[in-house]
Amino acid sequence: MSAVEQADVVVVGGRIAGSAVAITLARGGRKVVVLERRSFPSDTLSTHVLVPYAVAEAARLGALERLLATGAQRSPYVHVGAGNVQLTEHWPTAEGIGYGLCIPRPEQDHAFMETARAAGADVRERADVTEVVWRDGRAAGVRYVDADGAEHELHARLVVGADGRRSTIAAEVGSWRPYRGSRNGRGAAFRYMDDPRAGDRRWGETMSQWRWGRNIGYTFPVFPGRVICLLMPPAEEIGAMRRDPDGAWDALLASDPDGIGWRLEGATNRTKLRSTAETTSFFRASSGPGWALAGDAGHFKDPVIGSGQRDALRFGRRLGELVAPVLDEGGSDAELDAALRTWERERDRQCNASYHWGCRESAPTEPATPLLQEVIRTFEGNPAHLSHNFNRTLEPERAAGPRALALGLLNALHRHPGRRGEILREALDELPAELGIRADRWFGVFRASSSRPTERPDFDWPPPPAPSARRAAPEPGVDPEEALARAHEVVMGV
Ligand SMILES: Cc1cc2nc3c(=O)[nH]c(=O)nc-3n(C[C@H](O)[C@H](O)[C@H](O)COP(=O)(O)OP(=O)(O)OC[C@H]3O[C@@H](n4cnc5c(N)ncnc54)[C@H](O)[C@@H]3O)c2cc1C
Repeated sequence: MSAVEQADVVVVGGRIAGSAVAITLARGGRKVVVLERRSFPSDTLSTHVLVPYAVAEAARLGALERLLATGAQRSPYVHVGAGNVQLTEHWPTAEGIGYGLCIPRPEQDHAFMETARAAGADVRERADVTEVVWRDGRAAGVRYVDADGAEHELHARLVVGADGRRSTIAAEVGSWRPYRGSRNGRGAAFRYMDDPRAGDRRWGETMSQWRWGRNIGYTFPVFPGRVICLLMPPAEEIGAMRRDPDGAWDALLASDPDGIGWRLEGATNRTKLRSTAETTSFFRASSGPGWALAGDAGHFKDPVIGSGQRDALRFGRRLGELVAPVLDEGGSDAELDAALRTWERERDRQCNASYHWGCRESAPTEPATPLLQEVIRTFEGNPAHLSHNFNRTLEPERAAGPRALALGLLNALHRHPGRRGEILREALDELPAELGIRADRWFGVFRASSSRPTERPDFDWPPPPAPSARRAAPEPGVDPEEALARAHEVVMGV
C-alpha cells in the first residue's frame, strides 16, 4: 500500500451528485478528492431530462457552457396529453433559464466531471472504493484500489458517498437499508430515434408527457432531429418488452393513436431498447459522524417524475455550501456533524412532497382518470402551473392546490355523469394522502418512518454486497474524445 494521503473531503462517485459537491467545495479552496470507479465518459441506465430548474443548477455550478457545447436541443415548451386534455406551456424562466435539456449521460456526466476538475477537484477515475476508514467512531477516510490493482488509503475530515443506489459507503456506515421506501409500480423502457415531427418547431422543441390506459410515456428532444422516448407501463409489462422489444413497444404506442402513438408515428433509426423494473424509491439515513450520502446514495424518487438529477445537483451543491464554513473555520467535529444533519433535514423537507408525488404517479393504475384530467385542465387558467409541477418551483401540493382539486372534482362530476361514484371514491382516497403530505410539511419529524397512503412499503431490499463482492470489473482507460464521439454515434444510431 502507498503512503496515506490527506484531503479535506473525499467524494466517492463522480457523476452528478459527486461533481456538484466537489465543485462547490473545490471552488472555495478545499482539497477535494473524487474517486470514481468508472472510466469517463461513461453511460448509466437512466434517461436524462433536465428541467429548467435543473439546468439552472448546472449553470450555478458552472457546467452550462460545457453542456450546451454538446449541441443539445433546447426545449422551451412542455406539454401534457391526458385523454381529452392537451396542454402546452412555455416553461417560465427559472433563475434566468427558460428551457430544458436532455443530454445523454456519457456526454452530460463527462461535462460535470470536467467542471469539477476545472474547479480544482482532484478527480481520479478507475478508483474503486472498498472500505471506509474509521477513527474514534468517525468516518475518517477510505481505502480504494486503482486501475493497476494497487491499494491506497486516503484520509479526510468528511467522507461523501455519492456512489448511487447500491452505495458502498451506505453499506460501510450501516445505512444500507432505507428507513422508508416504496416499491415502484411502473417500469421504464427507453430508446432514441429520429424525430418524425422535428420539422414542426412546436414538437421539435417540446418536452412531453403522455398519459393513457395504464401507461405514462415521455418524449424529450435530445439533439436537433433526435428524440428519446421513455415508456413507463406497469412494472410487470417490462418482461414482455424484453422478450419482444419491437413488438411490445409498437403495440404500446399503437394503443394511444391520438397521443404518443401519433407523436412518434413513422419514427425511424431506433436504438436498442433499454429497460428496468427496479426503481424502488427510498430515504436512507444520510448523515452521521464524518459522513454523508449525496444524490441517489441517500434518497431516490421514482423516475416517473424526472427529478433525480435536479435534486442530485441541488443537494450536492447545498451539502458543499453548508459544510464549507465549518471546514474553512476549523470548526469542531460536532459542528461538522450538525451541518450535515441540517443538510439532510433540508433535503428531506424539500423532497418529501415530490417523493410522494413520484410514489403516486408510479401506481400502475389509470393515470388520466376523469378527476385527473379535470385537475390538469384547471392549469389552463393558471399559467405555469403545469411547469411548476415538473420544475418543482412550486411544491406539488401547491401547484395542484385545494382550488384546482375542488374545481377539478366539480368539473369531473359534471362532465362524466356515468363515472360519478368512481370519481368521488378517487377524491376521497386522495384526502388522507393530501393531508398527510401537508402534515409532514408543518410538523415534519426527522427521519419519520411511518408510511403514507401513497407508498407501497412492501419493497424488497437485498442485503448489501459482501465486501469481497463490491469491486467492479476493471475498465480499460479510454481516450475521452474518442469515447465521446463513439457514445454520440450510439445515440444517433450511426
Ligand atoms: C430508468 C431511470 C430513468 C431516470 N430518468 C431520469 C430523468 O429523466 N431525469 C432525472 O433527473 N433523473 C432521472 N433518473 C434518476 C437519475 O438517474 C439519478 O437520480 C442520478 O443519476 C443520480 O446521480 P448520482 O450522482 O447520485 O448517482 P449515480 O448516477 O448512480 O452515480 C454514482 C457513481 O458512483 C460510482 N461508484 C459507485 N460505487 C463506487 C465505488 N465503490 N467507488 C467509486 N465509485 C463508485 C459509479 O460508477 C457512478 O458513476 C432516472 C433513473 C432511472 C433508474
